[in-house]
Amino acid sequence: MKLRRDASFGFLLLLCFCWEVCAIGPEDLERNPAVQRFRTYLRIPTVQPEPDYAQAIEYLTGQAKELGLPTKIFEFVPKKPILLMTWKGSSKEKLQSVILNSHMDVVEVEEDKWKYPPFEAHMDEEGNIYARGSQDMKVVGMMYLEAIRILKAEGWAPVRDIHVLWVPDEEVAGIDGWGKFYSSKEFEELNAAIVLDEGHISYNNTYIVNNGEKAMWWLVIQGTGETGHGSIYFDNSASENMFKSLASINAFRDSQVALVSSGERLPEEVVVVNSVYLKSGSPTPEGYTMNIQPSVVEAGFDVRVPPVEGLGPFLTKRIAEEWAPKSRNMTFYFKVKTETQTGEIPITTADDTNPWWYLLRTAVSKFNATLSPQIANGASDSRYARMGGVNALGITTIQNVPFLIHSHNEVMNGYEFLKGINVTTEIVRLYGSFSGSPQTSRSVL
Ligand SMILES: [Zn+2]
Repeated sequence: MKLRRDASFGFLLLLCFCWEVCAIGPEDLERNPAVQRFRTYLRIPTVQPEPDYAQAIEYLTGQAKELGLPTKIFEFVPKKPILLMTWKGSSKEKLQSVILNSHMDVVEVEEDKWKYPPFEAHMDEEGNIYARGSQDMKVVGMMYLEAIRILKAEGWAPVRDIHVLWVPDEEVAGIDGWGKFYSSKEFEELNAAIVLDEGHISYNNTYIVNNGEKAMWWLVIQGTGETGHGSIYFDNSASENMFKSLASINAFRDSQVALVSSGERLPEEVVVVNSVYLKSGSPTPEGYTMNIQPSVVEAGFDVRVPPVEGLGPFLTKRIAEEWAPKSRNMTFYFKVKTETQTGEIPITTADDTNPWWYLLRTAVSKFNATLSPQIANGASDSRYARMGGVNALGITTIQNVPFLIHSHNEVMNGYEFLKGINVTTEIVRLYGSFSGSPQTSRSVL
């Protein structure tokens, strides 16, 4: 009797989960539990610069409980929690683990530029859910959990440990999150072989997979010089010094743009230099003094450097000699400067010699999809995993949604979210079923 009751319960569960990912109408989507859970997570304002991590951790811990996943919280920096959920693998051997990573924080919003409030997760008739974080990257975290929910309902279990990791502060360079975690004994104890992390929205059934990324150099240059009356010319003013720097930076920028527009290089292969602020002048209540030449001028640049051997030193030399030379009273520093991922920090191999690539490719091929490796323009926590000596691949199994990461009206389509869950489920299944070591051949499957 007991057995029969358990079996029918399992069947009901399975039906329920099938319904979750097979919703077809707008009302179904509205009532779909996976969509509801996703929207609940989107409503938690984990927005920089003061993300409400406590509320996110509370919600996610509740999810873990429902799924029967034990949790741990690490706090390397006060109020910057890292939440770890673990699905224990069945193997007696010490197989390396899989980490499914997502960051909890989201970037700031300009609320008046949004169609709907960015933390309401409003869904329109087409199933479009408007919310900050709906693409970057709460969708990915929730797809991991929904995949686990489906696999558990099927009665499937992994052979190796699968960890779901929720981290803070990725949007502010991850310094207090992965930046502390990757060199910790807690990370080492996870004995990870692969970290899956955020990727790109994809089109045409080809998933873009980030297997490396450009280094992020947030460069500040400062010019100082003689101050004086606005009506006279004199040598070596701070503005004059800065104008020379800007001309030099702009010429370099133009050369990189030309390489892309001529088709000689791909966007991920060139250095990106964008001006993000210019600061100078003597403020008055109405604006700025108009007849004083300022003694200090400062400019900020977002510089992204692809992982090309020798490019880091080349650029450093150029900054010191041409963009901010001492000879023109210029100084410079980096607000953030990440490694260029060349030499000792290799990019993750994106071909079948890497079993994690092969498994990913096999999983998406079940949906007639392919993979396309790409060096990411932006930075992500993957770089820390790579610095920790672990494979890291960035993939967001979402297609056909306008790319609005960090933009106004960031949106996720509910139907695409449900499709994405199916793909993520296959990935987790293949990763969790793989019983070989990274050195063994893929014929183990
Ligand atoms: Zn992100």
